[in-house]
Amino acid sequence: MRVVVINSGSSSIKYESFNLNGLSSAAKGLLECIGAAKSRLKHRWLTPAGAWEEIAETRPVADHREGFSFILEVSGRARADSAETEVFAVGHRVVHGGEKFREPAIIDDATLREIEALIPLAPLHNPANVRGINVMRELLPRVPQVAVFDTAFHQTMPPRAFHYALPYDLYQSAGVRRYGFHGSSHYYVAKEASRYLGIPSDKLNLITLHLGNGASATAIERGKSIDTSMGLTPLEGLIMGTRCGDLDPAVHFYLARKTGRSFEEIEGILNRESGLTGICGTNDMREIQSRVSGGDVRASLALEMFCYRIKKYIGAYYAALGSVDAIVFTGGIGENSAVVRGKSCEGLAGIGISLDGRRNIASGSGIREIQAEDDRVKILVIPTDEEREIAQQTVEVVGRAKDHGR
Ligand code: AMP
Repeated sequence: MRVVVINSGSSSIKYESFNLNGLSSAAKGLLECIGAAKSRLKHRWLTPAGAWEEIAETRPVADHREGFSFILEVSGRARADSAETEVFAVGHRVVHGGEKFREPAIIDDATLREIEALIPLAPLHNPANVRGINVMRELLPRVPQVAVFDTAFHQTMPPRAFHYALPYDLYQSAGVRRYGFHGSSHYYVAKEASRYLGIPSDKLNLITLHLGNGASATAIERGKSIDTSMGLTPLEGLIMGTRCGDLDPAVHFYLARKTGRSFEEIEGILNRESGLTGICGTNDMREIQSRVSGGDVRASLALEMFCYRIKKYIGAYYAALGSVDAIVFTGGIGENSAVVRGKSCEGLAGIGISLDGRRNIASGSGIREIQAEDDRVKILVIPTDEEREIAQQTVEVVGRAKDHGR
């Protein structure tokens, strides 16, 4: 049997199918450009002989319903020769769970209404997640569906960390507070760190750095998130591919007054035209690094700013935690960029954080330790796997619900 994980975005659907037994990956894919004249689907699957094969197809896909039918058709064709295909459960990544969802939840009509009620908090993300849930419930009506929230892991933050210093009424009436995101990734790498170090989660203090196109830092005390850099929305905190991260809130009013731009336009600038892209014109860290080698001044500035912000968060979370067992780098940049890891840890030897240059640049897969030999704080590179984490939580929730029903 299979566990299917769906990440339904506004114009894309990412999915992965796992064998229930051992949660090994069986197939995965990405449909992009939904709503455009040419939507592209790339589907990969593991053949019974143990080799990955790939099909890429392009056709017009008007909406998510057509998108899911396209995926089911192509993946159905691909697995014509494979054995078991029955779906045990579907896990949906849902970006915002507000204060309501501290845990993953089985999706029924009431849960779906709650997720819809959270749309004002995540207008760019939750509507597409809801679309994915609705279509999958129609296509597989008898299969349990589970919502796994990006915010849930951070619901353990204490009030002093999650409140903004705004009129308290805005928290009560409009839910304005820090929620945090990337929860499945921070939780997954924290568990992996605990397993790797042989230290139980409830005895482990970590700073986890998820550095991809979206980026966030989390302070984890004894296995629980006590602070994280993203806020009410995924815009706050670290510098990202196209998002600005921390910013003086007065920039918004100043820009509106000075340039006459609307709030929607400013929202677009801060989310899609800022960050690395805003400074040097690209959000691709590989290109930035190669331009830096060629002497490109803007690319150097973008790289310096990106790493300096990470370093500030390491310092802040070190202070918040009091003692740190390990710093974890993950995400496309965190796992692959020795330059970013090196610059982000520069000058921190005084607080027991220093990288070993050779270990940092050594290539390798799986979990790696890159701190200098006798350093107090371990520095780990841990590949994240949000899909597997969502699959794991989905199986646990469905298993608990079945036990309950017995
Ligand atoms: P993600 O959103 O986690 O897929 O990460 C995307 C980011 O990872 C992009 O900025 C990529 O340029 C960056 N990335 C991927 N591979 C590498 C690499 N080998 N070196 C530096 N950056 C990389």
